[in-house]
Amino acid sequence: MFRRRARADREFREAQKELLALLWMLAREPLPFDAVQAEASASAGAGSDAVVPDFPPAGLRAPSRQDVEGMMMRWTRPLVLDGEVHACPTCGLYRDWIVFCMRDDSVWLRCRAGHQVQEPRLNAAWYNRNSGPVDHWHPTFEDGLRHLGH
Ligand SMILES: [Zn+2]
Repeated sequence: MFRRRARADREFREAQKELLALLWMLAREPLPFDAVQAEASASAGAGSDAVVPDFPPAGLRAPSRQDVEGMMMRWTRPLVLDGEVHACPTCGLYRDWIVFCMRDDSVWLRCRAGHQVQEPRLNAAWYNRNSGPVDHWHPTFEDGLRHLGH
């Protein structure tokens, strides 16, 4: 029983690691928006000398792959580190965190008030153990925060 559960757990983590690798790989590919845009300007250019307006305006374009920095999840419970409930060093809030796992394996905590601090006691392994499957791909950091309710 225990062995079976451990294996399922390991398989889940393996699957998640593969998914993450896939996401990193996708992050290095052009975003779908770029492809659509390239296609649009290619077909608009064919058979007409019309100047293709810059659409969408540069400011509204999906961010480039350099913006893909990591994963994030919401952590509404108090976060216990080394047996103590962790509180934001700036404002003292102790629940409703956003937890970020960055590509360099560092983990950052953001409190509801927007204070962000790296938490050296946590790492990517901890994040993977505690996060659910990756189910959303956010074009921007702010979009991710909004999606998570911050
Ligand atoms: Zn705070």
